[in-house]
Amino acid sequence: MKKAVGIATVSLLLAFIIGFAVFDGVFNKNISGNFFAMDTVVSFDITGKDSEEAAEQAEKTVKTLDSEILSRHNESSFTARVNKTAGGRMEDHFKSYVSTLLDVNAKSNGAFDFTLGAVSDLWSFNDSPRVPDSSEIIDALSHSGCGKIKIEEDYLSLTDAQTVLDFGAAGKGIALDEIKNNFADKTVKRAIVSVGGSVLLYGEDKFTVGIRKPDGNAGEFIGILTVDACCISTSGSYERNFEENGLTYHHILDPKTGYPVDNGIISVTVISDSGILSDTLSTACFVLGTEEGMKLAEEYGCETVFVTSDKKIYASDGAAKMLEITDSEYTAVN
Ligand code: ADP
Ligand code: MG
Repeated sequence: MKKAVGIATVSLLLAFIIGFAVFDGVFNKNISGNFFAMDTVVSFDITGKDSEEAAEQAEKTVKTLDSEILSRHNESSFTARVNKTAGGRMEDHFKSYVSTLLDVNAKSNGAFDFTLGAVSDLWSFNDSPRVPDSSEIIDALSHSGCGKIKIEEDYLSLTDAQTVLDFGAAGKGIALDEIKNNFADKTVKRAIVSVGGSVLLYGEDKFTVGIRKPDGNAGEFIGILTVDACCISTSGSYERNFEENGLTYHHILDPKTGYPVDNGIISVTVISDSGILSDTLSTACFVLGTEEGMKLAEEYGCETVFVTSDKKIYASDGAAKMLEITDSEYTAVN
């Protein structure tokens, strides 16, 4: 009799363990992977009952946004058509992206400028690097500036036919917002999706994010941020650059000059609830520098970490509480 009770207890325990494992397997299904879009690597790690569906949808979202809407290099995208014909009727999502970008442009005094495409197109930071002539830059700059955008209800027109819209500093963040919205009607417990230097952290847990060591390898960090769910973007001069005649040229341009920003900033990390804000503000803050940049981010309720070439780290008050500096060569300035 005693033996029978023992077996029953063991079976019950076993059933409970198996049941829990099945339950755990269903509700905490994990899927991870990566693919290429928006001229960068997109990687995802998603846990939850609907993780597979969420991952498929995330991939579709980034690829569709890129090829059909934002890429100025894909002739059939909406942006490429606007650039070619100097106008187009915007659907609601696009209209709201443009409205945010115009706001960041105005509040940053033009430091963030998504009409700089004609200037960006003169530079090449890839396999065959190119420094444009100053006359080319002056000419392209004369076709830039958000004043050349006119919006009448849903219709956007470019008052200068040579103006080129460029979503290079906003698209990755826009993708994160769309992905996050798609998670809302699914059972997703935790997710990390990175589109290049912009990352969506989703779920109830805490997350740790490394601030990359500027002259180090991709996995080397100078500090660690411990954050709640958010969007976090970094703009760094080490991302796309080349050296010519002893000078280093990188891909974040000063809209006033058309040349790479040269203000001692190496990287800016922005933490926000919004992907479009973290992405655009990381670029804007890079151009503006520590003081003005931090003020701008504050206006939007975002936290910032600036890394400078003299190995200093400037963190906003909120970010300083989340940051642990792990490289003794770098010092915090508060
Ligand atoms: P990354 O693309 O490495 O994430 P950013 O988000 O800072 O870096 O975006 C840089 C891209 O944005 C450039 O490749 C260019 O297409 C565009 N860009 C460069 N300078 C500016 C600027 N001042 N304002 C808006 N867009 C810019
Ligand atoms: Mg950006």
